[in-house]
Amino acid sequence: METRTLILGAGAAGMMCAAHAGPGTLVVDHAKAPGEKIRISGGGRCNFTNLDIRFERFLGRNPHFHKSALSRYTQWDFIARVSEAGIAWHEKTLGQLFCDGSAKEIIAMLRADIERAGAQLWLSTEVKSVDHVDGRFVVTLLREGRQITCRAENLVLATGGKSIPKMGATGLAYDIARQFGHEITETRPALVPLTFPDGRFKPLSGVATQALASCNDTSFDEALLFTHRGLSGPSILQISSYWREGDAVTLDLLPATDIAAILTEKRRSDGKKQIATELARHLPQRLVEHLAPGLGLTERLGDLSDARIAALSDALKTWAVTPGGSEGYRTAEVTLGGVATDAISSKTMESARCPGLYIIGEAADVTGWLGGYNFQWAWSSGWAAGQAIAEMTKR
Ligand SMILES: Cc1cc2nc3c(=O)[nH]c(=O)nc-3n(C[C@H](O)[C@H](O)[C@H](O)COP(=O)(O)OP(=O)(O)OC[C@H]3O[C@@H](n4cnc5c(N)ncnc54)[C@H](O)[C@@H]3O)c2cc1C
Repeated sequence: METRTLILGAGAAGMMCAAHAGPGTLVVDHAKAPGEKIRISGGGRCNFTNLDIRFERFLGRNPHFHKSALSRYTQWDFIARVSEAGIAWHEKTLGQLFCDGSAKEIIAMLRADIERAGAQLWLSTEVKSVDHVDGRFVVTLLREGRQITCRAENLVLATGGKSIPKMGATGLAYDIARQFGHEITETRPALVPLTFPDGRFKPLSGVATQALASCNDTSFDEALLFTHRGLSGPSILQISSYWREGDAVTLDLLPATDIAAILTEKRRSDGKKQIATELARHLPQRLVEHLAPGLGLTERLGDLSDARIAALSDALKTWAVTPGGSEGYRTAEVTLGGVATDAISSKTMESARCPGLYIIGEAADVTGWLGGYNFQWAWSSGWAAGQAIAEMTKR
C-alpha cells in the first residue's frame, strides 16, 4: 500500500502530528489503544501542560533545540484547543494544568482531530522492518496476522522512549534513527524514584514532607515521599533528572523555616520542652523519631548552646544522602536522552541525514521537568512536524 505519511507510534506526539499532517496520513501503533500514557498520566487526569513553560525547564545536549517548536505551538495553543473541545481543566499547583474529569477526554479529543483530518489509525500493528528505497520509506507492518508493505514519502518516528516497557515502550525510534545515521545520546531513566539498597528508609515508608532537594547545582522545593525502597515524591522525581550514580542528594527538610531562629527563641521561652517535641511541630513525628538517634535529640531546649543549634539546623537543612540507584525504566516517567538533535531541524523536526524522516516527542533528546512539560514537548514537536509535512504537501 501507498501512503504519503506514515507515523510510527500513536502516543501524544504521534497523534498530534497525525491531526496536522494533512491528507494521506496513517498512524500505526502496536498497542490496542492509542495514548496509553496520556490515559494513566496525572493519576488519570493528565497534567497536559504548564502555564509557565520556560525553555530552561527542558534538558538535552543542545539547550536551544526545543525553543523553536515550543515558541510556535505554545501551551496557550494547546489550552485553547482543550477549551474549545469543551474539556474542563484546573491549575493544581506550580502552573500544572489537569483535566477536571478524565485524561480519556484528551485522548478522545486527539482521536476526533485525527478523524477530522482524514488520517487513519491502525492499532495492534507491529513494525517489522524499515527500508529506504528510491527516496521512499518501505515499512513492513504486521496487522491481524497479515504482513503489509507500506510505502511512504514521509516517515515520522513517534514511538517515545524506554520508560515503562510494560506499557509497550520500546527502543524502536532509536533503532530506526541509528539505521539512518543518527546518533543516540546516552539514555537513562528520569523523573524516577531513587533507591537505597540498605533499605534505610523502610521504617519511614509513607511519610511525606516538603523538602528542597539539590544535586549538581539544581534544586526543587516540592513534596518528598519516603518509600520502602528509598525516596520519591515530586522533589525527588525532579532531581533524579540531574542525579548521576555516586552523587549525593542534599535535602533541606525545612526549606521555608528558619529552625535556628525558632530554637533560639524557644530556648528562652520554652526551655523545659524536649527538642524532639519542638521539631515534631515542624516535621512529621516519624521522621523526627528516625532522625533522633543520629542527631542525639536527648536534651531540652534550654540546654542548647548556640553551636548546637547551628549544628542541628545544619543537619536538618543539608542532609546529604547518596542513593544507590533508581527504580529504572519500570517506573520512570520519561527517558532522558534520545536521538541527538544536532541532525534534526528544530523548526520541522525533519532529519538532516534523511529527507522525509521526522523525529518527534520523547524519542528525541529533549526531556522536560515534571509538571506538564513533557506533554507540551510532545504537542509542540508533533505539531511542528505535522504542519511542516502539511505545508510541503500543499506545494
Ligand atoms: C506514569 C506516567 C505519567 C506521566 N505523567 C505525565 C504528565 O502528567 N504530564 C506530562 O507532561 N508528562 C507525563 N508523562 C510523560 C509523558 O507521558 C511522555 O513524555 C509522553 O507520553 C511522550 O509522548 P510520545 O508520543 O513521545 O511517546 P508515548 O506517549 O510514549 O507514545 C509512544 C507510542 O509508541 C508506541 N510504540 C512504542 N514502541 C512501538 C513499536 N515498537 N511499534 C509500534 N508502536 C510502538 C507506544 O505503544 C505508544 O503508543 C508521564 C509518563 C508516565 C510513564
